[in-house]
Amino acid sequence: MKKLMRKFNQSFDRRVHTGANLMTHFLFLTVDTELSNLPAAQGLWGKVGADEYGIRFILDLFKRVDIKGTFFVDVFGNNQYDIKAQHKACDLILKYGQDIQLHTHPAAAFDQNRPQMRQYTFEEQVEILEFGANRIKAWTGTRPVAHRAGDWAGNIDTLRALKTAGFKIDSSICAWGNQSDFPKHLFLLSGCYLVENILKIPPTCYYRRFPNKIKKLDVNGCVWPEVKAVLSSKQNIVVQTLHSFSFLGKNNRPLFKIPSRKIFWPDAKAIKNCRLFVDFAREVCGYHFLSFREAAGVIFKNINYFTQKKLYRLNCATDFAANFCRVFDICHHSLKSLLMLSLNGI
Ligand SMILES: [Zn+2]
Repeated sequence: MKKLMRKFNQSFDRRVHTGANLMTHFLFLTVDTELSNLPAAQGLWGKVGADEYGIRFILDLFKRVDIKGTFFVDVFGNNQYDIKAQHKACDLILKYGQDIQLHTHPAAAFDQNRPQMRQYTFEEQVEILEFGANRIKAWTGTRPVAHRAGDWAGNIDTLRALKTAGFKIDSSICAWGNQSDFPKHLFLLSGCYLVENILKIPPTCYYRRFPNKIKKLDVNGCVWPEVKAVLSSKQNIVVQTLHSFSFLGKNNRPLFKIPSRKIFWPDAKAIKNCRLFVDFAREVCGYHFLSFREAAGVIFKNINYFTQKKLYRLNCATDFAANFCRVFDICHHSLKSLLMLSLNGI
């Protein structure tokens, strides 16, 4: 076993340290932008007194550190107050020049008793996606091309419905999520490939050996040494997930029966961790920040590459598009890379 690990480590190191691979590390910083079950649009704006720690804060932060992110926005409000708040959120994201894609929490606009995509038929899911895409198009002038299901709760019909509704990318198949009905073989941790002609770019997950657990990469939910280890392993695609309320401290688990989710404060640790994450990813590991829309542009201009056989045969390429194909080549091996991480004791 030791011999095998040494061999694998050597080939991994060679791959990481060759200059040719420098531009093949891409990082998608995503923000699920939603009202959630927080009161008075707190989920979007994160108000603490006169200050805000919601999407305006996140957009300012992205601007200050000069990165591109993707905001998966839930636009399924069904009363004027929620619709106005969601519209305002889209306006703001657009003003900052960041990417807007679709996040589906369909209950409010469709069926209060069915909060998740997997609970709807194929035809209904097409209707939900069309509804969301049309709303975003009406508010921003641009139709979304990528989707993430709320609670990661999609199924194979979601991918088929996405294709029918003209989407290109899905980011719902998450090894960490336990509410999904996607076929099990799709959960190859962080692998990216075409399923039902939709490109799956899932949130990055990793396997932690002790205690034995699959974790989703999340600056707020993971300890820093683990985040650092995943980034240092130079996965070719890393997808990190935030929420619009990630920087809002909340009284989620009241110790003394204080009413839940009513007391808020700025979460200084989460903000610091996010800054650390961006600095470490970009300056130390050389990740290139990319939005889902940019990815769709590059990939689907070169869709002919995207059969598995061609993917595996690609080798050193200099242009960005071809480099992107290499990304997927290596991502197919991410299970191995992550296994190595776990064997190395993170
Ligand atoms: Zn959500």
